[in-house]
Amino acid sequence: APKTVLITGCSSGIGLALAVKMARDEQKRFKVYATMRNLTRKDKLVEAAGNTLGKTLDIKQLDVCSEESIKTCVSSIPDRRIDILVSNAGMGLIGPIECQTIDEMRTVMDTNFFGLVRLLKEILPDMKKRKSGHIVIISSVMGIQGILFNDVYAASKFAVEGFCESLAIQALKFKLQLSLIEPGPVITEFEKKVFEDGMKMDLSAADEETADMFTNIYLKNYKQIFQSLGQSAEDIAEHTVKIILTENPPFRHQTNTLYTPMTTLKYADPNGDLPIDTFYKMVFQHDKIFSASLNFIKLLRWRSRK
Ligand code: NAD
Repeated sequence: APKTVLITGCSSGIGLALAVKMARDEQKRFKVYATMRNLTRKDKLVEAAGNTLGKTLDIKQLDVCSEESIKTCVSSIPDRRIDILVSNAGMGLIGPIECQTIDEMRTVMDTNFFGLVRLLKEILPDMKKRKSGHIVIISSVMGIQGILFNDVYAASKFAVEGFCESLAIQALKFKLQLSLIEPGPVITEFEKKVFEDGMKMDLSAADEETADMFTNIYLKNYKQIFQSLGQSAEDIAEHTVKIILTENPPFRHQTNTLYTPMTTLKYADPNGDLPIDTFYKMVFQHDKIFSASLNFIKLLRWRSRK
């Protein structure tokens, strides 16, 4: 029988691409429940799903911020059986914290972190009983490495990673699998919305230097970073399916090898200064990029000594 897959946040981006890719699997290995908060936004998915709709793909309502909605959705699935859960729904937030309200920050935590917690509270007990299931979480490289002006978003993904690292130990006992997918920049609506919100942001609560740093350094480079390093939603879907089909899937999987050296800096220096220093030089001291490169060399030497 095909494996049942529940994916959150399928009206756009990675969720949509993954739902369609799995539903179109030639070997018909999956039955996909593609969920979204607002069903009036289903047109793009309906179109992309084509003739898989009603066969290998069903669309259901699910808001990760509502326990009621999660319960209703899971209970509507035959035997409540979910073999693979993909926690994908999420949102971004950029800018100086002086210019963000606690409510805005709370919404990010509520969606990105508590959204996952709510899903697992509903789905994990069944998986434990069956002693089978794969929990796949779309995290981010920002789940292991903070980046300028992404303070709260990075915090929400760090929360996800800490939660999963703890849970993974218990999951092992129940023969469950847990995998964190960690993309770098991905070109989706997420990136567009975050950029537009950043451009519209009222910066009056920030001092001049901070406002200037955000507008003239961060936002100025934002588009370029996405254009040069960005992957597509389909790329991330491909990586995710590969991890799902791996017999012993890894706990962490980075989709963008260009990021691996940066995240590795973190593990290379227990004092934690190496990645912060390197990021600082990359952002503020382009002329010192040379010494940033030296840090890489130091790191490589350190690794080869191990
Ligand atoms: P996206 O904005 O296209 O997709 C996010 C989806 O989550 C949207 O469909 C949105 O409607 C949905 N969503 C938001 N709140 C929800 C809620 N309460 N209930 C249900 N659905 C909700 O962006 P994306 O890039 O496809 O993002 C998917 C995931 O990938 C997110 O977790 C994001 O943090 C992560 N990610 C994105 C990037 C990137 O650069 N785009 C990089 C790394 C990780």
